[in-house]
Amino acid sequence: MSTFLGLPTRRRSGATATGTGGGTGTVAGGADDPFGPVPHPQEPLRWGDAFPAAARQTLKNDQLRRNLGHATQVIRAKRAAVVGEVPDWEALRDAGSAVKEQVMASLPELLVRLEENVTARGGVVHWARDAGEANRIVADIAKAKGADEVVKVKSMATQEIGLNEALADEGIAAVETDLAELIVQLADDMPSHILVPAIHRNRTEIRDIFLARMGDAPPDLSDVPRELAMAARAHLRRKFLSAKVAVSGANFAVADTGTLAVVESEGNGRMCLTLPETLVTVMGIEKLVPTFDDLEVFLQLLPRSSTGERMNPYTSLWTGVTPGDGPQEFHLVLLDNGRTDVLADEVGRSALHCIRCSACLNVCPVYERVGGHAYGSVYPGPIGAILTPQLTASSGGVSGHGDPNASLPYASTLCGACYDVCPVKIDIPSILVDLRAREVDADRSSRSVDPWKAAMKAAAWVMADGDRFALAGRAATLGRGLGGRDHAISVAPPPASGWTRSRDLPAPPAQTFRQWWSAEHETPPHPPAEPVETPPAGTPGDER
Ligand code: SF4
Repeated sequence: MSTFLGLPTRRRSGATATGTGGGTGTVAGGADDPFGPVPHPQEPLRWGDAFPAAARQTLKNDQLRRNLGHATQVIRAKRAAVVGEVPDWEALRDAGSAVKEQVMASLPELLVRLEENVTARGGVVHWARDAGEANRIVADIAKAKGADEVVKVKSMATQEIGLNEALADEGIAAVETDLAELIVQLADDMPSHILVPAIHRNRTEIRDIFLARMGDAPPDLSDVPRELAMAARAHLRRKFLSAKVAVSGANFAVADTGTLAVVESEGNGRMCLTLPETLVTVMGIEKLVPTFDDLEVFLQLLPRSSTGERMNPYTSLWTGVTPGDGPQEFHLVLLDNGRTDVLADEVGRSALHCIRCSACLNVCPVYERVGGHAYGSVYPGPIGAILTPQLTASSGGVSGHGDPNASLPYASTLCGACYDVCPVKIDIPSILVDLRAREVDADRSSRSVDPWKAAMKAAAWVMADGDRFALAGRAATLGRGLGGRDHAISVAPPPASGWTRSRDLPAPPAQTFRQWWSAEHETPPHPPAEPVETPPAGTPGDER
């Protein structure tokens, strides 16, 4: 594959354009390319069309499907191999699930304990109710340090709040240092996978992106993976050495000790967490574990479920500030952004158990075909289908009629594969069904006439009378003309159009059952029985 699938010829103004080191920016493709990059949205948890329309678009992209099919197949096989080596895998899953249940049951106390321990060890804890507050806190810290550029280690929480764009508005460039995130950032694109954000790009595209957008890329750069990695390495090394401020997420935080943990594969995280003078960590409030021992469970579950490795190459743990070693100023931003609403929901709250391994994405038949961008959120796939509408519930989300996120719980076949692989046993299918039920109820109550009820009433009226039912059957056979040679109707008028939008409708048969019966049985099947005379009571012969 040697074509370039499209970058915009003009860069958006803002951090992603200024923070990555230049480049000509003039490349083939364009912003109008239907398969081109997805521009950064105003709302990272809600962008673009609702899922059905967005999926119809991405399904037309054969290259995307090939890239995704290959990548998810490889990750699935790796995961299955390393999980199969662990004899007590199911017990580990149970343990992970139990720890998360415990965290959710006592989250307020654990958060206060975490704050006390981080503060006692020289860190500063900030509480952010929403994206705006979190972005403000980080921007103020960077400005106070006189930084016009920060290095970042991959973080879903900062993507969720649109931190890069918020910093750009303040004149601060955020440089992504994870290789895949760097590719996505250089392309002015949005990530399409939790763990492999550039999974929708192949290596030829990546070479083209580097040449066009990374000012210090060697002009003779090939698409050999090692060469691509070395070019990114040289580019990022300069950024690490000059940055005053780093921004990270966190995989886990230990309430008992105030310890933060980041697990990663490339070592860029270790650079971010140790080299700059100031470290700011933005963490969702659900990422807690109560004790240090609990990490043992998750550090076995996470790498096997995510990258299919027995152990991730880099595990960084830090507690507050250590004089003379690493960043001398540490800030922890605890982010709510809708999480307490999710916690209040008895069924949906287990979505907060997620450790972002992405195993559910890699096995999902829907995700594999439509890709991450169709979900219109930084959280794609099965976990996105249950988490995004809940996080945005207060502004539409679960039950907001017409809200694009309300369609996300339908982005599933309910096959259950996501539940089978989830390392913390989140019952995603059950939550999907619950969210669908809520959406249906809300939709029903928002209409003055309930079409479902009206249709059922009409059906009851037709079926209550034999003549009416026979007439309706004969009328239905007229629809036979809509069927093709394969006797399938692909496009039907309303209300059947709701069905044919996503699947064929079998054409009605040439005759109804009643017509067939009459033709086959010229005489009525049960001739009326001769009337039987009933003897009057008490006549002779009655021996009761
Ligand atoms: S829902 Fe489970 S499988 Fe999916 S990303 Fe979260 S932890 Fe992993």
